[in-house]
Amino acid sequence: MESALSGGFQLPSVEWIDIYMALMITDECINCDVCEPECPNQAIYLGPEIYEIDPSKCTECVGHFDEPQCVQVCPVACIPVHPGHVETKETLFQKYQRLQQAG
Ligand code: SF4
Ligand code: SF4
Repeated sequence: MESALSGGFQLPSVEWIDIYMALMITDECINCDVCEPECPNQAIYLGPEIYEIDPSKCTECVGHFDEPQCVQVCPVACIPVHPGHVETKETLFQKYQRLQQAG
């Protein structure tokens, strides 16, 4: 029987490890203002040069929507996941609950 490592090191699929992350906006942002009002957590704000996302408020829209709303509307696709903020769906939901309680 072929072992999981026989053909080289295999990373588990994203679905299996259930990894989520806060999102970030790259410098390809054209400041079109479209994403900011779509964020249910008020996590998006205009920074010194481009729009930015506060990772402490971004839940990937968990608790509100099935898909990240900012990603859905961004015309230049400049909102990838933030590699420095790896979270599980459960911790994102806990963040959502904290934000709801904070009002
Ligand atoms: S993914 Fe959702 S919560 Fe995060 S910044 Fe985008 S719209 Fe806001
Ligand atoms: S929708 Fe995209 S391009 Fe427009 S402000 Fe937001 S991140 Fe920038």
